[in-house]
Amino acid sequence: MGTMELIDQHGRVATDLRVSLTDRCNLRCQYCMPAEGLDWMPTEETLSDDELIRLIRIGVEQLGVTDVRFTGGEPLLRRGLPAIIAATKALSLRDESGAPRTAMTSNGLGLKRTAQALADAGLDRVNISLDTTDPEVFARITRRDRWQDVVDGLQAAQDAGLGPVKVNAVLLRGHNDTEGAALLRWCMERGYELRFIEQMPLDAQHGWNREAMITAEETLALLSEEFILTPQSGRGSAPAEKFLVDDGPHTVGIIGSVTRPFCGDCNRVRLTADGQIMNCLFAREESDLRASLRGGASDAEIATRWAAAMMTKLPGHGINDPSFLQSDRPMSAIGG
Ligand code: SAM
Repeated sequence: MGTMELIDQHGRVATDLRVSLTDRCNLRCQYCMPAEGLDWMPTEETLSDDELIRLIRIGVEQLGVTDVRFTGGEPLLRRGLPAIIAATKALSLRDESGAPRTAMTSNGLGLKRTAQALADAGLDRVNISLDTTDPEVFARITRRDRWQDVVDGLQAAQDAGLGPVKVNAVLLRGHNDTEGAALLRWCMERGYELRFIEQMPLDAQHGWNREAMITAEETLALLSEEFILTPQSGRGSAPAEKFLVDDGPHTVGIIGSVTRPFCGDCNRVRLTADGQIMNCLFAREESDLRASLRGGASDAEIATRWAAAMMTKLPGHGINDPSFLQSDRPMSAIGG
């Protein structure tokens, strides 16, 4: 076992690996993808299950990864998902304290049927994206009439023990920006932990605009009209600032990626479905592990290349710099 780690020039160590299983999705959320979808990655460029599992193994065994989150695109569209989870859960952490922790970020469609199998395969937790309690608003934002399927998926995740079940929401001006408090109430009633994410410049259409974004501050002001929010300490490297709602026990999270960046505490690294390492969601450079893999590189060579890819991780995402340039890769092809 190696002693290498995924450290960057600023001393941050990545232990949280986000693995994108596909760039495809069955929703068309306005802040993510155009109505007609995108040109999906060609199959031959996408890592096979075995290739993916090999890279996850190298991350855990040689590079100190402790947490693996499956995302996309929509990870539930990947046929091999249960096998990939099981193979991840069969790995041992370098400190021999057990298996890596596993989580999935998903839109929840179809989870009603698969939640138990995923839990049985070793999935620990899920984050499900849901922006509204109103099926019509959902259909407008996602361009698909599937609100009830998401709600059923949430319930199934809860029943299968994939908790604490977290809900991710993005507020969009003119769509669901008046609904934050209602969504929080709805989540608390069901025991889901809600987190609001600021809209980021990651959409394929490059339509993000700062003035339209609902900021963390605005979200807090909206919620404070109905709830007493008390900041909680101990955020660590978690992206969400947590607030106790009224007297508890529920909390709400605010992820102010744009206006309250947390890059200094970042412990994340991303592997795309086509085998590229991205050291930041906003990175403009990628490191091609697929080429190494298919070129016959050894585990040690791949680990060295992966570790080297961390060295160019910038101190911050730079969204607020005048020179910021949005990546050519949309969120759906990076893994959110
Ligand atoms: N399909 C899965 C899902 O819906 O959760 C996983 C991938 S999705 C890209 C991950 C998360 O990113 C979702 O919660 C989604 O709402 C969020 N997201 C997508 N585009 C975003 C943007 N431009 N700004 C902020 N969050 C975004």
